[in-house]
Amino acid sequence: MDCIFCKIIEGSIPSAKVFENDRIVAFRDIQPAAPVHILIIPKKHIPTMNDVTAEDDALMAELFAAARQIARELGIAESGYRLINNVNADGGQVVYHLHIHLLGGAKLHGLNGA
Ligand code: AMP
Repeated sequence: MDCIFCKIIEGSIPSAKVFENDRIVAFRDIQPAAPVHILIIPKKHIPTMNDVTAEDDALMAELFAAARQIARELGIAESGYRLINNVNADGGQVVYHLHIHLLGGAKLHGLNGA
């Protein structure tokens, strides 16, 4: 499958991993938009949030659990962070393998205008 994140999961493309278990991998974004910018992805190839089904409920919960754990481990749980999932063209999705962006390490601006 010609998917860059599937290649990262297989190890044929290198990544700076910060978390891995049997179902999930998390690694540093190659073009960080904040001091901490991690991508959290399921090993199952799901193209977008639109393709998630009830069968994936436990996996989705586990992605958010991984996000909480990584935020704690990287020391940004208390200072704060943002979780983003981009969907399709208007959402700005570039890689069609479901992923959650974990952003933090500085005051984030935009979106809600804060
Ligand atoms: P999105 O626009 O939500 O699809 O986000 C895709 C993200 O993947 C972007 O923030 C890219 O910088 C990131 N990205 C693309 N290729 C790689 C890679 N090889 N390693 C790490 N991050 C990547």
